[in-house]
Amino acid sequence: MQEIIDAHTHLSERGDDALNRFARKNGLRYTLDELLSTMRRYKIGRGLLLSPPLQGGAPLPNEEVIRLCMRSDGMLAPVITVEPALKEVRAALKLAEENRRVVKAFKVRLGYVKASAESPVFDWLYDYAESEGLPVLFHTGDTAFSTGDLARSHPLTLDRLANKREELTMILCHFGNPWFEDVAELIYKHPNVYADISGLFTGGAYAEKYAEWLAKKISEAVYFAAGAEKIIFGTDYPITKHSETLALVKGLEVDEPDKEKILHLNAERVFGL
Ligand SMILES: [Zn+2]
Repeated sequence: MQEIIDAHTHLSERGDDALNRFARKNGLRYTLDELLSTMRRYKIGRGLLLSPPLQGGAPLPNEEVIRLCMRSDGMLAPVITVEPALKEVRAALKLAEENRRVVKAFKVRLGYVKASAESPVFDWLYDYAESEGLPVLFHTGDTAFSTGDLARSHPLTLDRLANKREELTMILCHFGNPWFEDVAELIYKHPNVYADISGLFTGGAYAEKYAEWLAKKISEAVYFAAGAEKIIFGTDYPITKHSETLALVKGLEVDEPDKEKILHLNAERVFGL
């Protein structure tokens, strides 16, 4: 099999990274060295790096994400996080323009920010993403902190945006967890809507049963959507360990060619890797 692509990973190497507690819980050092060596061990050839949240809620500056990617031997490519303020949108597009071909996508943190997918503040972003053929990732579903806004991170909030913007490639992160069926419908209905399977494991009691339940949910989404063309592998490191998400794909009750699509073929096509 060709090398796997991890379309959703985080890193900062900073003490004020709000994901440090997830890293500790998973027994991870959460460093660039650890991430790259783990990727090599699991034959993950490339990864997309997204800004993690810092203590206080703001995301790691995109410039730092780009700098980390530059230290990765070409294994990591940046995704630019876009916050809902005109100044932020302008800065993000400028950075993308300065780093053309290096930047592979944008990310909107639904549920963490005081804006919905259809907020007009994102209009420029969507225009630019459409014209450059760059996908936009949306956080959907459960939030990592109890203060998240589920009404704004619900995957069905993306249906109207997809209707309005048929040219925009949208990726719904975390499969809208726990609204898997809603996401199955969205990826079935819209030609340019995809979902990633990152960050679905949280451990705890019934972890094994939960993993079986997840595999069943994702498999059923494949049956409903009549194929796995719209599903993309991602770990959400350090929230989920590489081994856990790879085991999830292995446990899907779908054909081997569909697993290949999930593990790398879809990401290659969607992100132009
Ligand atoms: Zn994430």
